[in-house]
This record gives sequence, structure tokens and C-alpha cells, in this order.
Amino acid sequence: MVKQAVDSEVIRVSARVRGVVQGVGFRPFVYRLAVSRGLIGFVHNDGRGVVLEFEGPHDSVVAALKALETEAPPAARVEAIEWVEVTATGGRTFEIADSADEARVETLVSPDIAICEDCLREMADPGDRRHRYPFINCTNCGPRFTIITGVPYDRPRTTMAGFAMCPDCAAEYGDPADRRFHAQPVACPVCGPRVELRGPGGESVPCEDPVSEVRLLLKAGSMVAVKGLGGYHMACDARNSNAVQVLRDRKTREDKPFALMAADIETVERFCEISGEERELLLSPKRPIVLFRKKGDELPEAIAPNNRYLGFMLPYSPLHRLLFGGGLDVLVMTSGNRADEPIAYWDEDAYEQLAGIADYFLTHDRPIYRRVDDSVTRVFRGGEMLIRRSRGCVPTPVPLPKEYGENALGCGAEVKNTFCVTKGDRAFVSHHIGDLINPAAVAAFEEGVEHFKELFDAEPTVVAYDMHPDYFATQYAEKLTGVSKVPVQHHHAHIAAVLGEHGFEGPVIGVAWDGAGYGPDGTVWGGEILLAERSSYERLGRFRRVPLAGGDAAVREPWRAALGYLTETFGFQSGTFDSILPGISGEIREAVVAMLDKRFNVVESSSAGRLFDCVASLLGFSGGVNYEGQAAVELEQRADPRETRHYPFTVTDGEPFEIDWRPAVAAVAEDIRAGTDRTVISARFHNTAARMVAAAAERAREITGLSSVALSGGVFQNITLLDRTLPLLERARFDVLLHKYLPPNDGCISYGQVVAALASL
Ligand SMILES: [Zn+2]
Ligand SMILES: [Zn+2]
Ligand SMILES: [Zn+2]
Repeated sequence: MVKQAVDSEVIRVSARVRGVVQGVGFRPFVYRLAVSRGLIGFVHNDGRGVVLEFEGPHDSVVAALKALETEAPPAARVEAIEWVEVTATGGRTFEIADSADEARVETLVSPDIAICEDCLREMADPGDRRHRYPFINCTNCGPRFTIITGVPYDRPRTTMAGFAMCPDCAAEYGDPADRRFHAQPVACPVCGPRVELRGPGGESVPCEDPVSEVRLLLKAGSMVAVKGLGGYHMACDARNSNAVQVLRDRKTREDKPFALMAADIETVERFCEISGEERELLLSPKRPIVLFRKKGDELPEAIAPNNRYLGFMLPYSPLHRLLFGGGLDVLVMTSGNRADEPIAYWDEDAYEQLAGIADYFLTHDRPIYRRVDDSVTRVFRGGEMLIRRSRGCVPTPVPLPKEYGENALGCGAEVKNTFCVTKGDRAFVSHHIGDLINPAAVAAFEEGVEHFKELFDAEPTVVAYDMHPDYFATQYAEKLTGVSKVPVQHHHAHIAAVLGEHGFEGPVIGVAWDGAGYGPDGTVWGGEILLAERSSYERLGRFRRVPLAGGDAAVREPWRAALGYLTETFGFQSGTFDSILPGISGEIREAVVAMLDKRFNVVESSSAGRLFDCVASLLGFSGGVNYEGQAAVELEQRADPRETRHYPFTVTDGEPFEIDWRPAVAAVAEDIRAGTDRTVISARFHNTAARMVAAAAERAREITGLSSVALSGGVFQNITLLDRTLPLLERARFDVLLHKYLPPNDGCISYGQVVAALASL
């Protein structure tokens, strides 16, 4: 504490601020703070954050110290302020000193930040020199992570290196009182990047004002690829149902919901219900895609087929903001990619990859260094539940439970891969890399790991990875030399992630439900109840195993999984399945039943995700899935929220104990035969799954005496399930731990791996 003193007594304090405080306008903020209070002293960056000294009347100094946290710039994240009182030196000025030795930088790299109010105002002002300039930014906003090529963060180590500042920009950049002081991407129409319109083959289309031209093209129904912060989007007018359908057709076989971008929050409110928490997320500087409950049907169904939710974001770059107006208020802004490939972010790749999809390209000459997808999130019970943690969130670190002397690399899983590099007590979980079955995603993984090691000056000595021998990430880890290698079971990693995020040692009852993960017993796991600590686990229970004909084929075609469940429930009498899997031709069905009967090319799985697939198939999902979890997502959308009944199931004794779903599958089949409404069946099934979680937790409590339950795995992205599960667990007096910073899907695995590996050392 500053000693109790007379209000006007002059004191001097020396303080260090840690967190995301570089590249976010922190020094000019401190400067203004000091000058406005008549304080003298200095502020500068060093390798570990911002260092400052304030000198002046006691009360003013205390107020300024407090304001460091409460009034920090929107993009800053103050983690800690440490200060001591020092001897007053006297003087007249407050100075922004040159940065101390920045050779080894430990400060955090900022994520990309949505355009701020001040820049929006200037951009709209016809008298401003950046009027309608699509690359306007300042210390509080603009691209960061996507343009940073190295550290320390300054202009030569960004993709702005090729743009020499004009005298006006240089003056702003050099003036401590200016809101662009040391804003590395500072630019203007004279010296900065420019937009350009290009045709379907990437050929230049000369025009006076490419942005206005693109607005007209969109209004007329064209598909335009727009270069954003982390990659290209495909855009079209979301009110034009023909355009939306054309885009869907051109992107081929896609049912995945399209993300939308609206001019402002009022527009989003016309189409969706928005709570206070959702509003806050939508407007936050990370500007994620937020999933909202749809209201009305003013927008075309093809935007999000069979879905009660719409994913909306607001314009986050000035270029996006300029696309609206002139009758355009909602745009489809979906990933600029073809089918399952990662989004295009290099111009030449985009022209090639999006040929046949884009009628035009709205591009520019500021290169994107990192491909970063939009983050996707939603609100559950008043808190944030991430689905994809990427642009705007990364590379903000996720805390580790404690400071570790060794740095670790977590290689992640196969689908929705992220990797993670740790240093001290921080884990730098990467942006969404994608599915590591794709060469472009593999390249992004390999380059990304190297980039993170450099950015955070962390050379891992411990490498944690999945046990699945066929995963690319596993093979990558196995090839590394001179490091300790720690394989981590997939579902243990899920639960370890929850434990790590809460700084909780365990033990805990871990319920890890997903599609599939490698089981050390040679079967596929996915409906697991674990006794878990950060460093170890024991399998207490699991779903009854189901035979899956054709292995992965049963993931792509859920009806194959359904036949596994049906034959286990009803046996192999022919004709049993005619009425309950009507969409599948008799011949194909019989062939799969024969495979199951002979146990030919059959994989045994305790997956929870496949059970959802099975019920979705029985309720009419007859096609193949073209995005992960599609059948389950559509099943969830159907559930009638008013239905309270559930189906029977049993939890059998044994080590591990087993959740036997056969009575539930039989009851679903019975309801279908009886002509029960499908929305009711879906709801009853969700109620059943919730009761399965609760019953399994109860059984685990009998065995272990524990009352804390951690939930993870892609299945728990299903908020209908969560909504029905949590009250059951709470009523039974369980403490429930959910993810805090990461998604429940495999995006959390890399972090869970390092948490487990570091704890086991
Ligand atoms: Zn700004
Ligand atoms: Zn300029
Ligand atoms: Zn998983």
C-alpha cells in the first residue's frame, strides 16, 4: 500500500504492467493519463510488459494507478500491476521513453481488433483525410496477429513492411499524444494499401471505386470473394434467396449453415432474439460469429437449413463496414473455400480455389500472414460457450494451473485441430487449424508451430500428443527428437483441459462424450466416464459398445451406425428394419446387416456421438453428413422444448460399468411405429441422454465418493442436452465444471494434452 499520507504530498511510484499491453495503445494511454492529472515521469515497453513511473500528489498518483486497470484501452488485457514507491526526483514532463532492450520479448501479441468508434467516425467524415479509407486503424484497433511475421512487434515485422509511411502518417506515428502513436499498421490513402476489383479468373477490373462497385454487384445478386483480416469470405446479399441458393450450389454439397454479417446490431435484432450477454459478445472487440435464436422467416431458409439458430457477426474491418448501405444490410459471409479445404488467404490461391464460385474478387495489397478463421461462439446460461476459438481470441493465452519450468507443445487431434505452445504459466493455444487430413491444413500446422515457438520465445522440451497412430499430429510428434514425449489418451485430454482451465487438480468424475477417440484397448472410445486427475485417469464406465460397419463410413453415413444399434437391439431377423429406416434401399441395407452379422470390417465403438447419429437416422436423416456432427445438430433442432418424458436405459455393473442404450433404441423404434411426432421423439431422446449423464455420474460417485463432474467432448456443444443435463446434476448435488476458455470439441485437445503432460512430469 501507498503509505497513508497527506493528499497533496508528492510521491513517486514505479510500476510494471503485465498482460496484453503492447500494440494496443497502452503507452499513449498512460501518457494521457499522466498528463491529464499533472503527473511527471515516464513510460516504456520492455520485454515483460510496460514499465512506468508516476510522480505527483499522492491522490493523483493513486487515481492514475487505479485507472491503469479500469480505463485501459479496449484491446488491452491487464493481467497484473506490480508497483513500489521510489524516491521522488522532480522534473517537469511526462515522457514516452524508447523501448528498453526488446531483443527477447515476453509480452503478449495482441489478437486482431475490430474497428473502433474513433476510426469509424473519421472514416465517415468527408473532411477527414481517411474518409472512406478501407484500411483505417489506430492503436486501439486493426489487424495484429494476422499480419505479424515476427517479434518484437513493430512495422518491419508485419505485412505492412512494404508500405513506406507518408509524412502525415509518420508524424502521427511519432507523436506520443496522437492516437496513432506507434500504431504499426498505420496507413492512409496516400501511402497505404489499396483495394482492387478482380474478375472471376483473378484478372484486374479497372474501376474508380471498387467498394461501391462491389456493393452494386452484391445488390445485383453476384457472389463476391472479399479479402478480410484472416482470409477470404464468400459474400452475397443474404436477402436474395436466389443468390444464397446459387452460392450453396457452387460450394457443392454443403448443408453447413452460412454465417451472416449485418450492418449493425439493430439489423440483427430484426431476425434474432438477443439477450444482454449476447449483445455484449456481438459487440466485443473480438467480433465473433454469435449464434442467435432465429425469429421470423424473413431471411432465406437456405442460409441455415433445418436450423433454429443464425450465426451473425458485425463488420470488424473498415472494408467490411463500407460494404453496407445502398440497400444492403445483411450479407452472407461464409468461408472462402471449396468444400472441406481451409479458407483461402493468399491472393493467387484464392483466385484458383474460388474459381467457379466467385464472380468477382474484392482484394487488396496488404498480405495476410496467418490464415485465421472467424471465431464462433454462443451464450449458455449467461456465460460464453466457444465453438471455434480463432480470430480475435488468438493468441491471447489460456492460463495453466501453475508456472512450469519446462515448455510443452500439444499437437492436438485430427479434426478441428489446434496446437498449443506453453511458456511458464501460459498456454498459447493456436487458432483453428482445421482437419489434418488436408494438405493445406497440415502445412498450416507445421508452419504455425514454428511461428508460435518464435513469437513466444518458447522451445518445447515436452511434446504431448494423441495416441491414435494414424493421426498426422501423432506422427508429427513421434518424429521429433531431443524432447520428452508424452502420449495422452484423447478423452483424458478433454477432461484435463477442463481441469486446467479451472486450475483444479482433481480428482473429478469426467464425462467425455464425443464422436471418436483412440482407446488403448484397441476399440474406439467416445462415451466415457473417467476418474480423472490432470496427470492420470481411470476408465470407470462407458457406453455399451456398438458394432460399426465400415468403420469411418459409419461416421459419414449415420444410417450405417443406426443399423449397428438396431441389430444389437433386435437381432438379425430380416424385415425388422423395413419400417424404421425407410430412406435406405433394401439391398444396401441387407449388405450392411450381413457385414454386421459376420463381423466383417466392423469396428467396436463406445461412442456417444454415434448414438445421436443413430436416432437422427431413425427420425429421417437419410443422407451423408457433410460437416462434423451434422446429423446430431439437425436432431437437436427438432427437439420439442415442452416434452419432459424420456426413454428407459440401464446402467449395468462391471468394470467399467456400461450404459446400455438398447431399451432406449427399442423405445425410439416403438414410438416411430406408433407414429409419435418426431419433435417429441427427439426431445425424449435428449431427455434420455441427459439422464444417462446423471445416472453415470451417480454410479461414479458410488464408486469414488466424488461429487465434482467435468463435462467435455463435442456432444456437449448440444445446448439442448446441456440444458437438460445440468439441472439433473445440480439437483443431485454435483458440482459441474464446464470449459471456460476453450470449446468442448476437439479444439480443446491440444491444451488438455499439455495440461496432462506437464502435470505428469
Ligand atoms: Zn481505431
Ligand atoms: Zn499515409
Ligand atoms: Zn474428442
